[in-house]
Amino acid sequence: MSKQGLLIVISGPSGAGKGTICQALLERDSSFCLSVSCTTRPPRSGEKHGINYYFVGKEEFQRLIDEDQLLEYAKVYDNYYGTPRQFVVEKLAQGRDVILEIDIQGALQIKQKYPQGILIFLVPPTLSILQERLTKRGTDSPEVIAHRLNCVCDELSNTSQYDYLVTNDTVEHAVEMIEAIIKAEKCRPLHF
Ligand code: 5GP
Repeated sequence: MSKQGLLIVISGPSGAGKGTICQALLERDSSFCLSVSCTTRPPRSGEKHGINYYFVGKEEFQRLIDEDQLLEYAKVYDNYYGTPRQFVVEKLAQGRDVILEIDIQGALQIKQKYPQGILIFLVPPTLSILQERLTKRGTDSPEVIAHRLNCVCDELSNTSQYDYLVTNDTVEHAVEMIEAIIKAEKCRPLHF
């Protein structure tokens, strides 16, 4: 009997290190797949279409919604983001574990559609470390950083709906914790 893969959602405030953690998970275990989202946000310097995101216009994004091609979607910081359905459904059916790096609104939509999905929220060790990481990253203006930091408290107050909270103190430690969670989830009778 072929088993469905696991759907793993990783959320967390901007600068919590979601991208780094997801890349580290993929490097350590090539059986994971990372879903590439669609967004109406313009690309940042160095970002590539089809690798970081599918960069689409608002009309194209609306067409994807109308044609039910998105598994979930949400407006985050004035831009729209969504998960292409087909890739996720196909990979799960092949027994591959799929990682979605999405915000809390999207995570809650996934939980409704895939109750067996695992919701992991990545927490920065402290707010000042988060501010430092966002500033050092140098991809956002001070206004955007201030706006994102303001949203963090709201985001943290909604984490009770997640299955796991993982502190990103070091990449190594956070990745080990997530791998342990995934191993444990695979021992649940539902997935066995
Ligand atoms: P950024 O613009 O910094 O790449 O992403 C901003 C936020 O959008 C992050 O919290 C990221 O996790 C979230 N995000 C990225 N892709 C998706 C998606 O497909 N759906 C949802 N709901 N959020 C997403």
